[in-house]
Amino acid sequence: MKRLVAAITTVKERVKFCTVCGNVTEQELCNICRDPRRDPSVICVVEESKDVLAVERTRSFRGRYHVLGGAINPIAGIGPEQLRIRELLTRLNDGAIQEIIIATDPNLEGEATATYLARMLKSIGITVTRLASGLPVGGDLEYADEVTLGRAFEGRRNALM
Ligand SMILES: [Zn+2]
Repeated sequence: MKRLVAAITTVKERVKFCTVCGNVTEQELCNICRDPRRDPSVICVVEESKDVLAVERTRSFRGRYHVLGGAINPIAGIGPEQLRIRELLTRLNDGAIQEIIIATDPNLEGEATATYLARMLKSIGITVTRLASGLPVGGDLEYADEVTLGRAFEGRRNALM
């Protein structure tokens, strides 16, 4: 029992969230934010860190990420203020970002979040795209297979069309 508690404590102390994108990391910045080869002009917005892994598996995306920490869900009391949206807006300030790809889960909460973000970002004048359909509706992004998710990336469309 003591060893288990110690192990959990170590994990809790080591696991942090990237100060830029919100992905889980053991350092100040995650591997992707530290990688100079990643395109800083495109950001893929996902709900959770596990979605970063799902998108990485497709090898279709060479930009960077922003992890929201969930999706808008009024029943559970989660509104835009509870997500890392303010942090996303801060990142947009430096002018390097040209496109935001919204890759929230293909379910009700994910859709609500995507619509909210698309409307908000449109007013700033940044290209906002969403993954193409073909993802299983009602599902979780992380369960989509690499080929389907990769195709959804390549066929992304304007978010407000
Ligand atoms: Zn990061």
